[in-house]
Amino acid sequence: MFKKYFFLSAIVLFLIFSASDFIFAQQLLPHESETTKVQPEQLKTDLITPLNDNPVPIDKALEKKFFFVKKPVKGVILLITDGMNSGSIKFARELIVGREGLLEIDKMPVVGRVIGNPVDGPVHDSAAAGTCLATGRQTKNDRISVSPENEKYQTLWEMAKKIGLKVGLITTARITHATPAVFAAHVENRDSEDEIAEQLVRSDFDFMMGGGKRHFVASKRKDGKDLIGEAVKEGYEIISDRKEMVKVTSQERKKILGLFADSHFDHSYMENKTQPALSEMTAAGLKFLGSGKDRFLLMVESSAIDVALHYHDPVELLAQMRNFNETLGLLREFVIHNSDVLLVVASDHGTSGITIGEVFDPEKFLKIATSTTRIAYEFLSKPDQLGDFLNKNFGSVLQLDQEKILKMKQLKEPMHLSAAIGDLLFKKFGILYSPYEEIFNSPVTDGHTGEDLFIHAMGFHQNLFGGVMRIQEIPSRLAIALGWKFP
Ligand SMILES: [Zn+2]
Repeated sequence: MFKKYFFLSAIVLFLIFSASDFIFAQQLLPHESETTKVQPEQLKTDLITPLNDNPVPIDKALEKKFFFVKKPVKGVILLITDGMNSGSIKFARELIVGREGLLEIDKMPVVGRVIGNPVDGPVHDSAAAGTCLATGRQTKNDRISVSPENEKYQTLWEMAKKIGLKVGLITTARITHATPAVFAAHVENRDSEDEIAEQLVRSDFDFMMGGGKRHFVASKRKDGKDLIGEAVKEGYEIISDRKEMVKVTSQERKKILGLFADSHFDHSYMENKTQPALSEMTAAGLKFLGSGKDRFLLMVESSAIDVALHYHDPVELLAQMRNFNETLGLLREFVIHNSDVLLVVASDHGTSGITIGEVFDPEKFLKIATSTTRIAYEFLSKPDQLGDFLNKNFGSVLQLDQEKILKMKQLKEPMHLSAAIGDLLFKKFGILYSPYEEIFNSPVTDGHTGEDLFIHAMGFHQNLFGGVMRIQEIPSRLAIALGWKFP
């Protein structure tokens, strides 16, 4: 009797497993138009690490045997956390949700590790890393979606636009800054932001929001061109105020260009009420691109994490990690209600190498917490008062001698002054950075750092993002989810 039931259940279990295996294989089978005949066995061993019990060695994975999925995603949201390394995540967890709590990023079901470098060195900047994320191809630092020889690379967003998807870019940096630029523009140097603005206006992208108005307004451009007027001619509705932006709810409007600041959005201590929060722009982007029947690609950049890290300002970093956490919460909620959408969160490079040491104590940190960015901007124009200010407010912690004060007074960039104060002040509280070359003669980094990074995914075809991958493989994997081959 027992034996009989045992065999019956064994048969039932076998059938269930075979069926799930069949569904799994069906999902991965190539689209009819794909000519290569692929055996299910081959899919298991050849595809990419996440779909294997035995991860494929990275060199083999890089041979890129990619196949179309049978049922593609409706939309892709790529959230780029500029400069965010694992140290920033740990720091944010301690302060936002507590040591035992979970940030929104801790709730993402699939995690991978990302290796990245430009063609000619070990550490990426936003331009070359962004080029990898947008085009699937490597280049040199400073290049915006062009090869080291300055040949144009097509971006996944451009390809999507051509095929008829709605595409969007959201950032709190200048929309002409490297990370958003790589998706729609092609220039040899990231500093050619007037040229990038011109290419953005001609991109036909459906939804673009950020700062950088100075590169669109005739009076502020070197060539005096009125790109705002040009954008209107191209069919864009221009939005420049937070109140107008929150009204963006439907696809009735054709195309949107939101420009809310001359340069980057303000640092958080400035409490600007006319600039929307990243989460507010993201909500508008989701309504505009993601609520209709159209398929879509949306890039959201949490750009000010990188800025706060360049400034070695943990108070600003905390504010920006909160913005990121809030934005990701909203995106996760969207994916929970739209199960045909894929959400991917990726960093482009590390910045500042931030880490916390054993003495770190959130309560002690919060007691002394002052934005060093704010101090730097306040005292750059009155360096003679800096020593007195620091001694009065942080004397017991900093133990400043005349030599250190003199060196700080010589720093002319707000970023360097902020970083110098940040290093001295917060080191005592266990917040450590890689030292800048310009400050105290420590030739380690000029800001960016080369650690491997995390990638997180959630939603339809999320498993494409487990395992180890090169940063330039990310758009290929997004393309697989979309049912295409790219580049
Ligand atoms: Zn970056």
